Amino acid sequence: MLRVEGLSKHFGGFTAVNNVDFSLEKGEILGLIGPNGSGKSTIFNMLSGTLEPNAGSIQLDGKEIAGASPHAICVMGVGRTFQIPRPFRRLSILENAALAGYYGQAGAVTRAEAWRSAEEALELVGLPSDAEASVDTLGAAGLKKLELAKALATKPSLLLADESLGGLDHSEMDQAADMLKNIREELGVTIIWVEHIMGVLMRVVDRVMVLDHGEKIAEGRPQEVATNPKVIEVYLGSEAEETAAAANRD
Ligand code: ADP
Ligand code: MG
Repeated sequence: MLRVEGLSKHFGGFTAVNNVDFSLEKGEILGLIGPNGSGKSTIFNMLSGTLEPNAGSIQLDGKEIAGASPHAICVMGVGRTFQIPRPFRRLSILENAALAGYYGQAGAVTRAEAWRSAEEALELVGLPSDAEASVDTLGAAGLKKLELAKALATKPSLLLADESLGGLDHSEMDQAADMLKNIREELGVTIIWVEHIMGVLMRVVDRVMVLDHGEKIAEGRPQEVATNPKVIEVYLGSEAEETAAAANRD
């Protein structure tokens, strides 16, 4: 359902994503992993239209979408979450999701349909659909769930989930992983799931793609990738850098 070829993005003289190819089958969950700064969010930003690629092609169901506007891409069926949730603070939880359902679905949507898609999405992620509840009542895990609900309220065929586990504790991470799996089963939606840690992602995804410095360095089934020497080196390398940075701070 998705075919990406030669995707590149430069910021000035810096290459954030370099000539990346990958494709997705309908109903698949692809894990996109790599150290901080390896280009994961930049790929999502190009897939969802937030950034225009410098080169490459992105075909969704055979249709070229590279460079189209975020709204057009959303309406064509690509829903995304953001790594840093920024809900409308003065709107309720349900209103936030309903807004996504109203403006992000294909075709003309009535208010009633928008509310219904919002309620369904909130139920799927396990949030209260109390119209009065303020987004300020949500903690880190709740805000991540609301991101997911907003994306689902647009009725996507492809869901892009960016760092859904950031700021969560271990049991919340497990719950979030099961939730994505459940969403795929219930809705038949295809998912790309970005995470900088491998952890729980590896037990949920069908396939993993690993980025390092903007380049694809490995792709395959989770067990294969986890034992790939190149991947181990990149992860140990980045851990060593983080440990050194932490030591320098102390
Ligand atoms: P990841 O999501 O894998 O942590 P990103 O895709 O956010 O990484 O970033 C990849 C690289 O591109 C990083 O070095 C980051 O600093 C840089 N980058 C991302 N967005 C911009 C931007 N808008 N302008 C300049 N540099 C950027
Ligand atoms: Mg990122």
